Amino acid sequence: MGVTNSNVSEWLASYDKSKITIGVVASHSSLQILHGARQEGFQTLGIVVGEERKRYYSAFPGADPDEWLVLENYAQLLEKADWMRKRNVIVIPHGSLVEYLGSEKFKILEVPTFGNRGILHWESSRSRQRTWLEKGGCSLPKIIDDPHDIDGPVIVKYAGAKGGEGYFIARDYRDFRRNVNLDYEFTIQEYVLGCRYYLHFFFDPTAEDGFQVQGMGEKSGKSLGRLELLSMDRRDEANVDEFYKLGSLRDLREMSLEPSFVVTGNQPVVIRESLLPRAFQMAEGTVASSFELEENSRGMIGAFCLETIVTDDLEFRVFEISARIVAGSNPFVGGSPYSDINEPFMSTGRRISRCIKKALEKGMLETILS
Ligand code: ATP
Repeated sequence: MGVTNSNVSEWLASYDKSKITIGVVASHSSLQILHGARQEGFQTLGIVVGEERKRYYSAFPGADPDEWLVLENYAQLLEKADWMRKRNVIVIPHGSLVEYLGSEKFKILEVPTFGNRGILHWESSRSRQRTWLEKGGCSLPKIIDDPHDIDGPVIVKYAGAKGGEGYFIARDYRDFRRNVNLDYEFTIQEYVLGCRYYLHFFFDPTAEDGFQVQGMGEKSGKSLGRLELLSMDRRDEANVDEFYKLGSLRDLREMSLEPSFVVTGNQPVVIRESLLPRAFQMAEGTVASSFELEENSRGMIGAFCLETIVTDDLEFRVFEISARIVAGSNPFVGGSPYSDINEPFMSTGRRISRCIKKALEKGMLETILS
């Protein structure tokens, strides 16, 4: 049993609201989260395993946390919950926190966290993601159930692989057999040929202005909150991004080389403006359907990313959703071509703290925390 809404209400009741501290594990997107928290006037806490990593943050005084919590291992974070609550800490989760701590431990961490921890259940399985995204009106790459049916390029993905590790491309059954590791669970997806865009959205359920998401199902006809597009990136992936320099796939195979998809960095991009309405339609559907996934679902809260490929007939395929801040938003510490239109210097990290600040002013903190 994870943390419940009433746990969070109870903890918040004893918080000194004038001394909220933003806590984050020092990794992933922590520089912009810490920097953004400071811009919004919060105290900051960096969480780290071992003293060594702290040193690198002194290279970034604009983000260097006011205080550090040094752990021997991530599991120890659970024992420090009391300590954090005494300091009025709100934890901002990111991909590395969930990965280092493990999703089961993350669910029982007894500190208020930004966003809806319940959404992790839907995000953590490819098939549940598919249900969610299709309900929201997104098109996804086709799934090939039987490897004998492979009759064009496919990408084979292992369950739980992070950052594209171990994925491979196959053109036919023979390719598949040669590369597959049957010890692991895998999914075979149509390889979508096109350009990748990682769309960084933010959903603020406490805001009543701007682009309002319209509810579906029982929430039909209701405005659920404001949807914003903050930025967009494309990932650098080793070695697939550089493979073309070595010749054709056949040449590469002769050299016993297979493309890999390990994320090494991120680059800022913008999309054709005429694609934005469809991008918003997909994101709106994704938010609206997140409230319909189960009874009393609290839905999507805060930052999320639709990972897409745009084909040459200008269609989006969504191959994944991340239901929290993504590291692809790191190039935008100083704002993006999208967020600058609304307010300069608004990173996703800062937007999270702004959301907390506004919710505090409106007495709606519980709406955005879990
Ligand atoms: P993470 O969880 O870190 O986002 P992951 O390990 O779940 O990553 P994916 O994001 O699913 O991996 O995919 C990794 C990379 O593989 C993508 O960035 C993209 O380059 C490529 N890719 C994934 N699915 C497809 C597809 N259906 N067609 C073409 N390329 C794909």
